[in-house]
Amino acid sequence: MSEPFDPLRYRADFPLLSRRVHDDKPLIYFDNANTAQKPQSVIDAVDGYYRTYNANVARAVHTLGEQATAAYEGARSKLAMFLNANRDQLVLTSGTTQAINLVAYSFALPRLAAGDEILVTQMEHHANIVPWQLVAGRTGATVKAAPIDANGVLDLERFEALLTPAVKLAAVAHVSNVIGTINPVAQIAKLCRARGIPLLVDGSQACPHQRVDLQALGCDFYAMTGHKLFGPTGTGALWARREHLQAMPPFFGGGEMIRTVSFDGTVFADPPHKFEAGTPNIAGFIGLGAAIDYVESVGLDRIQAYEAELLAYATAALDSVPGLRLFGRAPHKAAVLSFLIDGVHAHDVATLLDHEGVAVRSGHHCAHPLMQFFGVPATARASLSFYNTRDEVDAFVRALDKVRRLLA
Ligand code: PMP
Repeated sequence: MSEPFDPLRYRADFPLLSRRVHDDKPLIYFDNANTAQKPQSVIDAVDGYYRTYNANVARAVHTLGEQATAAYEGARSKLAMFLNANRDQLVLTSGTTQAINLVAYSFALPRLAAGDEILVTQMEHHANIVPWQLVAGRTGATVKAAPIDANGVLDLERFEALLTPAVKLAAVAHVSNVIGTINPVAQIAKLCRARGIPLLVDGSQACPHQRVDLQALGCDFYAMTGHKLFGPTGTGALWARREHLQAMPPFFGGGEMIRTVSFDGTVFADPPHKFEAGTPNIAGFIGLGAAIDYVESVGLDRIQAYEAELLAYATAALDSVPGLRLFGRAPHKAAVLSFLIDGVHAHDVATLLDHEGVAVRSGHHCAHPLMQFFGVPATARASLSFYNTRDEVDAFVRALDKVRRLLA
């Protein structure tokens, strides 16, 4: 028997979580789907790089350059192990947004023609809609969306029916950033593969909360973000099948991505480097390497089990608040709770909660089509992490009661 999960043990690793706000109230950070807090080991890794071996990667043969390169490439290896992937199939990017845009411009654009379709779902983040619209707009292709039900579950039958020969690429969130739905991506990958349709999975919200095994998943592309995984902002990756990476032309040109350059032509480096022009976010990736070490030391399976418990607790607590409407009740769901209180605007909820020390996000969460589906302009969203506690959920619900009494 492993010992019970104790979030308090881990909270101490995150300096920011002991902050106090608004008249010395303890901060309750429930905006983890937006960005996660960073453990001391990540802060130290970034600090240590700048203090002791700041240098550019790949170009320098001096001691600092070698150390920086080893640490930066070491982070790629850690990320590869973390995702059960090969390191030469991981393109390091500034985040999910850049990863999806790379696929849109380098993979999709040259393959699209008038009448073609890209299939997404109703619950996508704008980062998994707008890049497809941009390349579709240049080619006469269109973007269509598979529907979800009232609980926020993807209608898999309809998704399958929409996978017609016109579809040249499908793109699906692994986990919704708004309603927490965990999509059956392995099943979706099977449906797509049976029809020869490449599948991109937006894993931005999955990696911090569950084990992602890219050998098992069966998709063609997987995009992820480092800052939601307790690493620095401006870090992320695109994983892709080797044959795609080989076939795709570079999207950014410049230094670091070439083998030889002359005015007669350029020979590109092998993947993943041919997609990584210019000086990368060295400090950020060194920090992300430390974040992965940290998450592995806690254990993703334990994180997932604890967060599932905390989600059940928080859902029951929110259901006890009169006039509160919860959006998204998928049976497979991450600890993300989008809600509204009757008669109160989401921004007012978030502002008043902030005064009680509770940080939640309000707005459309970069998911206008999902807001349109629910028929609301915005929601408030509490997104939890393994360092959050039941006591914090209780304090959140007390704060919501106050909001309701003041405004509803
Ligand atoms: N997809 C999803 C589901 C997200 O939640 C986010 C971040 N909110 C993104 C994509 C974009 O990630 P980033 O801004 O880090 O590139």
